[in-house]
Amino acid sequence: MKILTASITEIFCSIQGEGLYCGQKQVFLRFAGCNLRCAYCDEPAALAKRSQAPFGCHKSQVTSHKVPVASHRSQTARHKLQVTSHKPEKIREESPDYKEMSVVDAAAEVIKLAGKNRAGAVSLTGGEPLLNWGFIRALVPAFRKAGLAVHLETNGTLYREFLKVKSLVDVVAMDIKLPSSTGQKPFWREHGRFLSVAPEKTFIKTVVTSKTRLSEFKKAVELTTSISRSVPFFIQPATRRSPSPGAVRPPSGIFLEKACCLAAAKLSTARLLPQQHPKWGVK
Ligand code: SF4
Repeated sequence: MKILTASITEIFCSIQGEGLYCGQKQVFLRFAGCNLRCAYCDEPAALAKRSQAPFGCHKSQVTSHKVPVASHRSQTARHKLQVTSHKPEKIREESPDYKEMSVVDAAAEVIKLAGKNRAGAVSLTGGEPLLNWGFIRALVPAFRKAGLAVHLETNGTLYREFLKVKSLVDVVAMDIKLPSSTGQKPFWREHGRFLSVAPEKTFIKTVVTSKTRLSEFKKAVELTTSISRSVPFFIQPATRRSPSPGAVRPPSGIFLEKACCLAAAKLSTARLLPQQHPKWGVK
């Protein structure tokens, strides 16, 4: 029998450390695979599995045994996934950082953790979760039934895929990727289209580094205001993860002051908010 599966890095309960819902207890379901390669990416599993197809969910023959999902991140203060399979699962050879999970198993694990930890929301994150839009469509009804709010954390480029799940998600945390921060090509057109799909349920996060150009940051603010002034906009200074000279660094205080002024002048809600997990000592 063929079962819909997706490559999942981990499922765990923690505290949201970014954006509009910072501080809220959530269950995180992290998909492997991403269509981008940002210079500041802190998700090696996203890089380990490059999506070959535009839609990364697929049907696979399930065979062999069950394994816990290996995590590439520290395990402080969180509840690491222990898979209790209803059906046997196929082990992926490509990476120890993710495994194929069925909709039934993934939903059961999320709901179990949410109940145990009194979390009221599930965050679909990655990697890029929208590579798995078909899997998400199959997954969300179980979350709804369990009374969980569904948050989507996305790089904001796959607007066609977003259209297929937009009615299923309650909150969208959308990145605007600045080329001088990511080291990637610009995605202005994709971001504009993405934001226009559901601005009423979207907030923006843009990561800034010591390499970010203010002109690009300004363009991100203008792109947002061209669709709605009231979309909450979060400026997130990159977290320094290594002391090595070539490592990604946060921008200067002067840059951040200028960026805040610029955003506050055009948007009704603009905030500077670094990642909180490293400060709290949680994932
Ligand atoms: S979009 Fe996110 S997961 Fe993908 S490479 Fe960039 S930071 Fe990593």
